[in-house]
Amino acid sequence: MKKRTFLKTAGILGAGLLICPMAGCATKMDLMNSPAPLEPFRLPPLGFAYTDLEPAIDAMTMEIHHTKHHAAYIEKLNKALNGSPYKGSGKSVEEICRLVDVSDATVRNNAGGHYNHSMFWKWIAPGGKDGMSPSLQAAIIQHFGSIDTLLQQLTDAAKNRFGSGWAWLSVNAGGALFVSSTANQDNPLMTQIVEQAGQPILGIDVWEHAYYLHYQNRRADYLKAIMELINWTEVSRQYDLASKG
Ligand code: MN
Repeated sequence: MKKRTFLKTAGILGAGLLICPMAGCATKMDLMNSPAPLEPFRLPPLGFAYTDLEPAIDAMTMEIHHTKHHAAYIEKLNKALNGSPYKGSGKSVEEICRLVDVSDATVRNNAGGHYNHSMFWKWIAPGGKDGMSPSLQAAIIQHFGSIDTLLQQLTDAAKNRFGSGWAWLSVNAGGALFVSSTANQDNPLMTQIVEQAGQPILGIDVWEHAYYLHYQNRRADYLKAIMELINWTEVSRQYDLASKG
């Protein structure tokens, strides 16, 4: 890491601690173990430095994505919860996503934005992680035929999402894997809103804010790069939790 980059990163992390003191804040361990902390929601730390995904994802994109975009969803969500039935209900952001419907666009967009990004930071890792469990591997082969077919379906779902949104690998109520795509910050937890509901175990952010600085309009190149960063160890852990659920 270049010294200047390091100082910049350290400065941002330092500033983050001021906003988010340890006592009231998600620790790295919280982040690795859902459910997410309760409201008022706070920006969870990344499990890695902004520079760690380079060259696939540049440090400035990561920094803006985390400290501006994700933080803004959280700020707007906390504001929107004031005066809502969720305020003080002790519900996690996952539960809010499961309950929200089309009548509450602000909670829908910002609870989705907070959940999706909190999970996205776990679903990717520097260099990716190969540790796909035998149970997830078997399920992928059973449902998709091969791992390459799954990756192609995920890539196609992401590529074909018009405008902003996400591509997902999820587990449905029957325990079956499926690939889907949602617009904006919707996600498969939103049973009142999406066509195919389930427990997401992997999501790919295809908002331009996730890649535009480095890739501009080349979404396909970004997708190729992000597929190499998938943390299959974490995806497998979540598959095991979801399929036993
Ligand atoms: Mn994003």
